Amino acid sequence: MRPAVLVIAATDSSGGAGLTRDVRVLTDFSTDALCAITAVTAQSDSQVAAVHHVPPQIIRAQIAAALATRRADAIKIGMLGTRATVEAVVESLPADVSMPIVLDPVLVSSSGGVLLDADGRTAMRGKLFPRVMVITPNVPEAAALLDEDMATNEQALIEQAERLLAFGPRAVLIKGGHWDGEEAVDLLVCADSLQRIVSTRLQARSRGTGCALASAISAGLAHGVPLFEACREAKRYVAEEMLGSGFLARSPGEEGKMVISNTPVMQR
Ligand code: PLP
Repeated sequence: MRPAVLVIAATDSSGGAGLTRDVRVLTDFSTDALCAITAVTAQSDSQVAAVHHVPPQIIRAQIAAALATRRADAIKIGMLGTRATVEAVVESLPADVSMPIVLDPVLVSSSGGVLLDADGRTAMRGKLFPRVMVITPNVPEAAALLDEDMATNEQALIEQAERLLAFGPRAVLIKGGHWDGEEAVDLLVCADSLQRIVSTRLQARSRGTGCALASAISAGLAHGVPLFEACREAKRYVAEEMLGSGFLARSPGEEGKMVISNTPVMQR
């Protein structure tokens, strides 16, 4: 049977981000999707026009029904919106601590709409972070989650990752795509290691890349791929998707323009 990921996320009517994007990525990775919708958003590429937060009891019921239907091999969590939603999700997560859970800490849309309120942010940090395998903030999200200024160099970013790690996730993947420079460096920071995933920087602006990356990581984990490799392949997938080069249709070994490299693991 194909592996399955439980996607706990919101809909985006533009199709650029959110649940429909997640499902598309999982399908590309030959992974089935179970789903629990946290919010319904009315969005275009330029604005978040309205948000309906699904009542917590319906979120709990969706997660329970999904997990009663079949076993999930991993869980991907996207937009949550409010403290009540964060708490409903925390209460509904399976007790099995070996379940790989990927949390994309969605705070704001690229059009500027707030997708998690301040109360929700505190609850996510305090109650959800300790339950997950990896969180995937970008540079501004890492700063906002710590109530700090944005890091302006890699050392400062590593230190922010360490402070995020102290809230309890087993790993922090900070996406460096918001910085200038020829390379886009992602940092995967765990308690005892630091790994860099380096790629060519793409100029293309694309919506939903955070959703796609976290979904691709969850698909890798659902297939039993170790975390670092899952993150690296997810980055390759998103980059190739942005290049519009039909990565998955290519023959094995033909990696095209995208160069992904990593330095050896640095012991910390
Ligand atoms: N809308 C929803 C429902 C999302 O889940 C997300 C991101 O995860 C976004 C919007 C933000 O996407 P973007 O940065 O492309 O606007």
